[in-house]
Amino acid sequence: MLPDSPFLPLPARILAVQDLTPDVKLFRVEIEDPRARENFRHRPGQFAFVSAFGMGESPFTFASYPSPDGVLEFAIRRVGTVSSALHELEPEEAVGIRGPFGNAFPMDEYRGKNIIIIGGGIGLAPLRPVIQAVLNHREEYGELLVIYGARTPADLVFAHEFPSWAEAPRTRVELTVDRGNGGWQGRVALVPTVIKELKPSPENTITITCGPPIMIRFVLAELKALNFAPMQIVTTLESKMKCGMGKCARCNIGEKYVCQDGPVFSFSEISRFLEQG
Ligand SMILES: Cc1cc2nc3c(=O)[nH]c(=O)nc-3n(C[C@H](O)[C@H](O)[C@H](O)COP(=O)(O)OP(=O)(O)OC[C@H]3O[C@@H](n4cnc5c(N)ncnc54)[C@H](O)[C@@H]3O)c2cc1C
Repeated sequence: MLPDSPFLPLPARILAVQDLTPDVKLFRVEIEDPRARENFRHRPGQFAFVSAFGMGESPFTFASYPSPDGVLEFAIRRVGTVSSALHELEPEEAVGIRGPFGNAFPMDEYRGKNIIIIGGGIGLAPLRPVIQAVLNHREEYGELLVIYGARTPADLVFAHEFPSWAEAPRTRVELTVDRGNGGWQGRVALVPTVIKELKPSPENTITITCGPPIMIRFVLAELKALNFAPMQIVTTLESKMKCGMGKCARCNIGEKYVCQDGPVFSFSEISRFLEQG
């Protein structure tokens, strides 16, 4: 029988595991029951709780655009109990999936607009489905600019996909690292500095950012300085949470619940809280 409580995970199976960086792995996962798999519909920006049985569950964003075969992808950084237990798992082993939760990027509203993706580190994971959505329907959107940075070249997630993104029509990928190494010929600068340097125009443009809180704070300041209006600045926020359904009251930022009102917010919704914090 299928679980019918939103607190019970759906049994799922790992199809493949890929190393993205020294501490981030990409998990391709399939919900076991075909009917549950078909009914499980997620949108870019949403997240699920992934459980390592016997250890617990943690929230992770869907790292890929919904695929017709129902395969789900999660890019998971090893930081603690659950993520370390997941990193020990191999293909064919079991995990649990609970979700989807949260709101999504309004991809329909972005049609016809230029889109600037601004990511830092593992923060590219929730932005990848947006990039995939634009590239899958390239003619429906304006210019796509991806500004992405990580601590070192080895920490850039999805690096193997950058060349194909950059080759797409009207698409530009600007990479940066905090610290280079011998083989790195690209830019060495912080992400907000790259924005300052490129000076993108706010005209008919939406910016979507995700990364460490300190990066988000400085990115917002740069975008404001370039006259982006609060409604043109979209960010995803993280907060500790247990339920994903507004019950445990762990994830509130001011009066907003990250699990239900977010994780996708426009700057106009959260500027008051960010400026206080
Ligand atoms: C909506 C949402 C989407 C997320 N998407 C992703 C994703 O795609 N990939 C990914 O790797 N991580 C993601 N995270 C963060 C991830 O949930 C935490 O890193 C996770 O809880 C770690 O579980 P753990 O048991 O391994 O760590 P724990 O043992 O619980 O904690 C290890 C350390 O991480 C800190 N930590 C725990 N949870 C968070 C959090 N939510 N934010 C900041 N620090 C935290 C703890 O304070 C502690 O220092 C997301 C979080 C949220 C809320």
